[in-house]
Amino acid sequence: MDGLARLPFPAATSFGWRQRTLKSAIDCVGVGVHSGRRINLVIRPATADHGIVFRRTDLGRSIAARVENVCDTKLCTVLADPDMPSARVGTIEHLMAAFAGIGIDNALVEVNGPEVPILDGSAGPFLFLLDCAGFIEQEAPRRIIEVLRTVRVTAGDAYAELRPLGPVTRASHPILEMDLSIDFTASAIGRQSCSLRLTPDNFRHEIADARTFAQACDVRQLQASGLALGGSLDNALVVDGAAVLNPGGLRMDNEFARHKLLDAVGDLALAGGCVHGRFIGYRSGHDLNNRLLRTLFADATAWRDVTTEPLSVVA
Ligand SMILES: [Zn+2]
Repeated sequence: MDGLARLPFPAATSFGWRQRTLKSAIDCVGVGVHSGRRINLVIRPATADHGIVFRRTDLGRSIAARVENVCDTKLCTVLADPDMPSARVGTIEHLMAAFAGIGIDNALVEVNGPEVPILDGSAGPFLFLLDCAGFIEQEAPRRIIEVLRTVRVTAGDAYAELRPLGPVTRASHPILEMDLSIDFTASAIGRQSCSLRLTPDNFRHEIADARTFAQACDVRQLQASGLALGGSLDNALVVDGAAVLNPGGLRMDNEFARHKLLDAVGDLALAGGCVHGRFIGYRSGHDLNNRLLRTLFADATAWRDVTTEPLSVVA
């Protein structure tokens, strides 16, 4: 990448009203954290209203990055082709977060294996790729999903909520306010929280570089079961009780909570548009994030699609 300037996206304090795609295709190669396989990733520009679509080039199948196509949320967020459930793409959440974090609506993501490369376990390398590709604005207006009524999903004492923030206006722009708290028995993590108003600047500077994490005992168990085969200290924080095992330690305060917030940004991007509302998560993860969106969309009184409203509503 020598000689290539990192090109920050403009309009960094808001997402704007028009859809965006990449200016050019960009690619990389990396390991899949669960399969341990070497995966080629190519991200291509796409037309307006195409959305984010994953394509398994080895199987010739395409899968829209939409909440209804999520088939598994245990270790990561996995999409499946509804017409061929064996055609899956996993570990999509950090790339989806990068798209949502800087406001890319349309792209074709090609992979030649069952998951997106983990790279360094954060969204930082994906952001770098998108910056290198650059972006263009498209004619079509961005889809905005306004939360009208609070929805909440729970699992034990864990929960995730979306609350209304009032109507979207031209002056206010769509806003996703986020608050997330975690509580782990490993004292290296413990109780942490992170709050963020999602803007391109805040995404880039506050959460994009926060890495995924695991407890050493869980990693040993997963690898004995044939999972996390590509996991290493190069692509995840690993904690053992009070110790962070990575030689370089943490990149930032509250890196664990920041990463959970990053995951939530990626999972909420499966709504297929900008969510305008307030997200609150307590010990939430991929499963609750997915159930939250499904619960929202199941109740037609809980949300509205602002781009389908007359222009005067957003003018
Ligand atoms: Zn993650």
